[in-house]
Amino acid sequence: LSLADKLNLNKFEVDEGEPHILINNELCKSCGPKSCLLVCPAGLYSEQNGEIIVEWAGCLECGTCRAVCDKKAIDWKYPRGGFGIIFRQG
Ligand code: SF4
Repeated sequence: LSLADKLNLNKFEVDEGEPHILINNELCKSCGPKSCLLVCPAGLYSEQNGEIIVEWAGCLECGTCRAVCDKKAIDWKYPRGGFGIIFRQG
């Protein structure tokens, strides 16, 4: 299986009422490398109209984006109990 195929096996219980990743775009404006755009293994970060967007519902909960953010602009916590990713890679 390709990586994309393996990722497609995962299931997500999306907590629509409480995003577990929030971005402080005021802090992002002064960020040079914008490492979050490069490191997310699921490719969930993008920049649109000068703002950083994260499609948090597909998060693999690896924590990499939080670890690499120089500006501490990412407010990250695990999803509430019963929500988040359910790994199904065999
Ligand atoms: Fe992507 Fe990992 Fe951050 Fe989730 S925790 S958004 S998978 S880098």
